[in-house]
Amino acid sequence: MKSKFGEYGGQYVPETLMEALIEIEQAYLKYKDDSDFISELKELYEEVANRPSRLYFAKRMTEELGGGKIYLKREDLNHTGSHKINNVLGQMLLAKKMGKTKIICETGAGQHGVATATIAAMFKMDCHVFMGKEDVERQGLNVFRMELLGAKVTAVDSGTGTLKDAVNEALRQWTRECDTTYYLMGSVVGPHPFPTIVRDFQKVIGEEVRWQLQEKEGKTPDVIIACVGGGSNGIGIFYDFIENKEVELIGAEAAGQGVDTNYHAATITKGSNGIFHGMKSKFLQDSYGKIMPVYSMSAGLDYPGIGPEHAYLAESGRAKYLPVTDAEAVEAFEYLSKTEGIIPAIESAHAIFLAMKIAPELDNDKVIVVNLSGRGDKDVYQVARYMGVDINEQ
Ligand SMILES: *Cc1c(COP(=O)(O)O)cnc(C)c1O
Repeated sequence: MKSKFGEYGGQYVPETLMEALIEIEQAYLKYKDDSDFISELKELYEEVANRPSRLYFAKRMTEELGGGKIYLKREDLNHTGSHKINNVLGQMLLAKKMGKTKIICETGAGQHGVATATIAAMFKMDCHVFMGKEDVERQGLNVFRMELLGAKVTAVDSGTGTLKDAVNEALRQWTRECDTTYYLMGSVVGPHPFPTIVRDFQKVIGEEVRWQLQEKEGKTPDVIIACVGGGSNGIGIFYDFIENKEVELIGAEAAGQGVDTNYHAATITKGSNGIFHGMKSKFLQDSYGKIMPVYSMSAGLDYPGIGPEHAYLAESGRAKYLPVTDAEAVEAFEYLSKTEGIIPAIESAHAIFLAMKIAPELDNDKVIVVNLSGRGDKDVYQVARYMGVDINEQ
């Protein structure tokens, strides 16, 4: 298996983790083309995740904006409310085949932790979630959800007490118990083989778009847009179209309060090459290579790096990555709610904003597909606060 995407990726980990990573790679190589594994996963996608997810024509948005047709890939309708479940199902099945009895994972806002705890309950696996102390305090509801599902949640108070620290601590704990435990990475980041495995379990999104759009419009998309944190929903919808050079691939990065402030998470726009979390990629770092604190109101995009395959797609010019601020994401969040009656995740709203910008510039026969990576129920409270609305007083 290829461990790099151009110069990006690789395995920058201590010796103690190498064996565990090799074990996962070998198991994955054994099962990925195994017909039983493939049919079991297909059944889980259908029965548990609710796949295939709908390709929805955003008719009102298209009419109002004018220009290209807008379609939404409805990952928000999956069980647990986002694309995260696709990857969790795939890796959980792999862990089970490997004979593991316990799952470790990291989570930021709690979306990946909740999806993992959900499927761990189904698979009767012990589940231990590491979450930054700051995030535990901000996302109490998700902590309770995970506990309700039977998971143990550990608050990590090293560093800034956020996602990057949760990853560090989860990896540290994994080295102590990798015989029995599988590390279930939540995005296309970390050392090889995680970026490839997670991408392979998410690429179903783009594969479905291909046949769904063929049925509806008789063509491939002209533009595909997805938000990027680590980059799993993005690579999931891009991957099947990478060789179709005429399909424009666009990632929406979190620009927080603006890329010229210190409060953003726009890794491709402002980052540089470095090594962190076991991979070579692009990171927001100072001139000494120290990872900088990042900010976005969207917890899912609040990560100082990006998956190595995206770094490669950006460097080679195959995909482009554009910054979207908090204010612009909130504008799109409200817009989609009012025009289509769909409340998007604040992460996905970053991608919606770019579609609102780009659609009017396109001819009527062009098609934009936006990955609606998750639903927005989790964000309603925060958006209300951002808009200055006090929910408790209404
Ligand atoms: C976690 C999350 C993201 C960001 O993660 P990626 O790996 O970049 O996809 C985006 N949208 C939603 C709804 C999420 O839960």
